[in-house]
Amino acid sequence: MASSDAQQRSNVALVTVSPNEYIYDASHPRVKAIAAALLWYSPRFSPKNVPRFYDVSSITERPAVFQDVIDLFVERYRKAAPGAGPTHVLGFDARGFLLGPPIALALGLPFVLLRKAEKSPGVLLQSEPYHKEYAEQHGADTMVLRMGSVPPGARCILIDDLIATGGTAVSGFEVVMAAGASVYEFAAVIGIPILNGTEKIHTCFGGKFSHVPVVTLLHDRDILDSQCGDPLNFPAGQSRVVVSGASAAAAARP
Ligand code: AMP
Repeated sequence: MASSDAQQRSNVALVTVSPNEYIYDASHPRVKAIAAALLWYSPRFSPKNVPRFYDVSSITERPAVFQDVIDLFVERYRKAAPGAGPTHVLGFDARGFLLGPPIALALGLPFVLLRKAEKSPGVLLQSEPYHKEYAEQHGADTMVLRMGSVPPGARCILIDDLIATGGTAVSGFEVVMAAGASVYEFAAVIGIPILNGTEKIHTCFGGKFSHVPVVTLLHDRDILDSQCGDPLNFPAGQSRVVVSGASAAAAARP
């Protein structure tokens, strides 16, 4: 392997942000490449009214970047001591469903759905209602885990694309706890530290989860203003949703 390739593929150190909160070394070329691929959209072009809506499909649509996101998590979990590593990977509805399965498959672990409301079959464990960053317009959600999908004593990785206020994350901790299992780690690609999601995890339920690592690949500050995905010169007042009738769609095609 050429030395620049070796550098590209070398391990990435974790940097401590606060007790039991870690981020991958932002100066490493692998992390820089992931940060550089991520696009955000303004409220005009996003489904939620947040200043920057980060689009996980800017990762999934680039196979080399997507693969490295998965590899960075997998490489670390593989280093766990025998008998002490994760036993299950749980992904949050809906974008955790994109990241969790390839990680679970690489580790040979079950992938389990953390679904909103009552979308799963079977007997369900349901969280208390929780709020997320854009809660004002969206209202509260509840998270469910199918009873029996995670056995008592399981050590679960909880994964999502992004942690903002931590409301979504805590709903996952709650149902895992109700199943009699433990959280091995909460992991996300992007963290928005100003919204204090890690603090929410570490202080919820009387600090019961203060020992659980919260790991993000990068922070929102690593994604530049110039990485805005909004289309240029989009006609003011025109809906961003183009109905798929042939003529309208053809007219809107770039
Ligand atoms: P929170 O519960 O506030 O930590 O919000 C995290 C959840 O909401 C994750 O499932 C994200 O997919 C979604 N989310 C929150 N804020 C954003 C954002 N700025 N961009 C994209 N997704 C977000």
